[in-house]
Amino acid sequence: MICATIAEETIDDAIKWGREARKWADLLELRLDYLDEPGRFPTLLERLKGPFMVTCRTPEQGGEFHGSDGERFRLLAEAANRQVDYVDVDVTVPAEERETIGGTQVLSYHNFDETPEDLQETIENLQDEDVDYIKVATRCTDLGDALSLMDLKPGGTRPIIVLGMGEFGLITRLLYRKTHSLMTFGAANPTRPAAPGQPSVEELRSEYRIHQVDQATEVYGVIGDPVAHSRSPYIFNHLFDQFDQNAIYVPFRMLRSETLPRLADRLDLQGASVTIPHKRTVIPYLHTLNPYAEKIGAVNTIVRIEDRYEGYNTDARAAIDAVIACWPENRLDAEGEDPLAGKRVLLLGAGGAARAGGTAFRQAGADLLITNRTEETGRELAENLDAAFVRWEDRTDRDHIDLLVNATSVGMEPMEDMTPFPADELNEDTVVFDMVYTPPETRLLREASEQGCHTISGEEMFSRQALKQFKLWTDEYANREDLPPLS
Ligand code: NAP
Repeated sequence: MICATIAEETIDDAIKWGREARKWADLLELRLDYLDEPGRFPTLLERLKGPFMVTCRTPEQGGEFHGSDGERFRLLAEAANRQVDYVDVDVTVPAEERETIGGTQVLSYHNFDETPEDLQETIENLQDEDVDYIKVATRCTDLGDALSLMDLKPGGTRPIIVLGMGEFGLITRLLYRKTHSLMTFGAANPTRPAAPGQPSVEELRSEYRIHQVDQATEVYGVIGDPVAHSRSPYIFNHLFDQFDQNAIYVPFRMLRSETLPRLADRLDLQGASVTIPHKRTVIPYLHTLNPYAEKIGAVNTIVRIEDRYEGYNTDARAAIDAVIACWPENRLDAEGEDPLAGKRVLLLGAGGAARAGGTAFRQAGADLLITNRTEETGRELAENLDAAFVRWEDRTDRDHIDLLVNATSVGMEPMEDMTPFPADELNEDTVVFDMVYTPPETRLLREASEQGCHTISGEEMFSRQALKQFKLWTDEYANREDLPPLS
């Protein structure tokens, strides 16, 4: 069941968002504590279509109700009296008050600071209370917390509702059908989430299609930190839908690569994209490496093959394909099918993307120069690729460059005001390729374009590497036309 939380100040807005949310949700949660005039909530029961859950929380319980306890209990009792389907009552409400409130009660336990280790015991103790349902919502400070929440069991006859708050907890909301949780919650109004990390009901249903998740649904996702900016969930859920795959793709914000085995085991993970900062550190947790990924020394794709996880790299081929496809026609050699052979390429960065791109550019015969903020890593990569190393401070001090490639994260959200290369040092004959794809037009590309340079957006690479990942996971060939609009 998907429940839409309505956290509006006015009755009119609550009606507006309640009607909108009805398209996506099975149940409406009316947060009386957000209403300017909570006593008018019966109007919502008349004007909106149920079923309803009614909730009224104080600031200590994560809500906005500033009236007295007596007023709050009276509101909840009135809701129960009006036969709303569920009345949410916080565990701090004394048992005798809960008895007076009556109705079908959801006894809810919140922890806004952490996910305690003894939650299973807490749930089992709550089973002794005279309530109908038990709800547990805790803040996740790590992906491991979310996985612990997903393991919780009712431990008694009363059904449970489990939610992880914050970005790490998102998977508990998206994959609740892979847990014992009876329902999940989303915001009715995307701009007014009622809990940290609460997605909108529209997103839950139309982007993630969580209503279709069942025990057989295969789980995929992107492993990284940060991952909130990633367009991959949007792309892959769209492709899974287009190609009729019973699969879901979710963001896994992961701090440490060593969490991978637990994640893979709990969710029976079928595949994953790997992004910053795990492209190299994830390797020890895989069973095998595809030879090309091994040569590059970085993995951006994990594929489940029977009971083993194999690492691949689709960035390298995608980088070169993007450059070749977007290379300015008037600068192709007469006979040259391979526009990079013999070209001078200055590569900024020495992380996972630079390793992949650098390997591919060298294979295409480019004369490669590598520069990196941290000299040691840059020198090491240059040596591996038989390329020249340029100190970061000296990166503008070059003879002609045919192609400038940004493989640093400079220019990516939230660093979109920064550029890794001053545009006034660019020559208009230099093609500029920025691997950063959020935003699609980075400051580097905008300024390079103003200098008259031909530019190639990171989206060109991103879409190509995604299609290769999709093929590895599903054995289906998707085309660029199958992708949803990226921006
Ligand atoms: P990574 O392994 O973490 O490497 C980050 C690189 O950026 C390192 O070379 C790092 O230098 C450099 N860097 C970070 N902050 C910097 C700063 N303030 N000044 C100068 N250099 C800085 O990340 P990655 O996986 O290689 O990804 C790099 C970028 O490429 C990201 O924006 C990512 O989204 C993008 N990317 C795009 C695609 C695509 O399909 N379009 C695919 C892969 C990656 P140090 O060594 O000094 O730390």
